[in-house]
Amino acid sequence: MPDPRSLATARLSVVAPCYNEEGSVTDFVRRVKAVCESLRCAYEIVLVNDGSRDATLPVALGLASADPAIRVINLLRNFGHQAAATAGLDAATGDVVVLIDADLQDPPEVIADMAARWEAGADVAYGRRRTRRGESPLKLISAGIFYRLLRRMTHNDIPADTGDFRLMDRRIVEVLRQMRERHRFIRGMVSWAGGNQVAVLYDRNPRFSGETKYPLKKMVSFALDAITSFSVVPLRLVTYLALLIISVALLAALTVFVVKLSHPDYFIPGFPATMLTIIFFGGVQLLALGVIGEYVGRMYESVKSRPIYVVEGIYQGGGESGAIRRQAADPAPASAAVPRL
Ligand code: UDP
Ligand code: MG
Repeated sequence: MPDPRSLATARLSVVAPCYNEEGSVTDFVRRVKAVCESLRCAYEIVLVNDGSRDATLPVALGLASADPAIRVINLLRNFGHQAAATAGLDAATGDVVVLIDADLQDPPEVIADMAARWEAGADVAYGRRRTRRGESPLKLISAGIFYRLLRRMTHNDIPADTGDFRLMDRRIVEVLRQMRERHRFIRGMVSWAGGNQVAVLYDRNPRFSGETKYPLKKMVSFALDAITSFSVVPLRLVTYLALLIISVALLAALTVFVVKLSHPDYFIPGFPATMLTIIFFGGVQLLALGVIGEYVGRMYESVKSRPIYVVEGIYQGGGESGAIRRQAADPAPASAAVPRL
């Protein structure tokens, strides 16, 4: 039996979610192909069109029609980066699967280093950013705070300064395929899966074209997904906050009592106690409800067990006839892991 950890016998899948990437996708495919050819392994490139509103789909189909190694998964609408990546991972057939952004911020050439780490026994080789050129100070600061906060709040050891750019062994991909949760934070889910995970340092480039699809609002919601998917610390924080507020209320009550001893007519009778109680406990309860609501909302989403994405079609071309074929099959595995009520 050949060595299972040899690229010579393995098949490599490169998965890239694309949303309005008409300007990058051609160069992206060219550079990924160059890397794959240099690795001399069997490979496929899976482009997931996440409901782009520009010419990404026709450009991707044009590339696929000329090249049987390219497969295009076209989603019915924009489902978001994590869902699009999931669609690509579900469809990937390789023994080794690379997840990479299509905007060329993650240089495809790093795949060669990652593949070497895989051959040396790593189950996951994740890209860790040495530098991030062309990012706004706001993004850098918010990302810095986010990773530090995330590491403190979750028990799961999610490495800092990494994105979703990573190479995974088939075993890890199979674990991910079983995780059908709707609020997805793929890099955390990969950490959760375990195995031998190693970092590969690289320099993150500015976007090749277009602009980021992660404005602040999406980043906040992404951060909330990350934290609540992996941690119940926010619930505990509410408990601490409640304890703090209760202590303050007790102290205030004591102050009122002391003041009353020396100046019996200083307050309207009953007023301070009533106000303190109403305000503090009202606040505590609202906050607790809000956080519980976050989790209940997520349970609701999961219990509904809707698909994470909907595929319009899978396109592959470049055969004998050169014509592009469309398969309507949905590559999502059965959502057996989703609890039902
Ligand atoms: N993307 C996607 N769907 C979305 C948003 C983004 O498929 O709704 C893709 C996008 O085309 C890119 C990758 O996900 O390949 C990362 O997005 P982006 O570059 O906007 O994020 P950033 O690098 O700024 O964090
Ligand atoms: Mg980007």
